[in-house]
Amino acid sequence: MSESKRLFFAIAIPPKIQKQLVQWRADHFPADAGVPVAAANMHLTLAFLGEVSAEKQRALAAMAGRIRQPGFTLHLDDAGQWLRSRVVWLGTRQPPRGLLQLANMLRAQAARSGCYQSPQPFHPHLTLLRNAGQAVPIPAPGFHWEVPVTEFALYESRFTGGRTRYTSLQRWTLSE
Ligand code: ATP
Ligand code: MG
Repeated sequence: MSESKRLFFAIAIPPKIQKQLVQWRADHFPADAGVPVAAANMHLTLAFLGEVSAEKQRALAAMAGRIRQPGFTLHLDDAGQWLRSRVVWLGTRQPPRGLLQLANMLRAQAARSGCYQSPQPFHPHLTLLRNAGQAVPIPAPGFHWEVPVTEFALYESRFTGGRTRYTSLQRWTLSE
């Protein structure tokens, strides 16, 4: 029997924007507000798959490869905190239709393959701080990063050496 992997589909944030976000976070949040997510780990999850066998991974990748839709631009212009999950996030006030379409398709494919999907609607977000258990003042609107999205990827998540690392396993270009 082959080993399973912890997988998710996500949109990568360009390294230049990751660095800007780290700086902005340092400038706008107190140091003890939570545990900062490492720049390289900043991403936007489209669909979480959980522990997946190699066989199921192949099936999910084949379905993902059949998705045909154009790219889109993500405007990161919103921020907030979910106290229940102790997360401070960046998001978008107006999720592009393409983003919702892509996430909903990947989530539907995952559900059909037997990966548990939360009944909650998709909340596009990028986690900035974890373990933020106390209410943190959220910077006033006015910030804005524009992320051109031309591809999405399948990632493996591994906890090794005391930290979580993601590895991109496969990527797909968004084009009609
Ligand atoms: P940690 O090792 O601290 O859990 P992490 O949350 O970044 O770090 P994963 O738990 O492997 O790593 O999650 C990978 C991605 O999938 C993250 O974006 C995470 O928010 C998301 N995710 C994890 N579990 C779920 C879930 N049950 N439902 C939806 N998304 C999830
Ligand atoms: Mg997690």
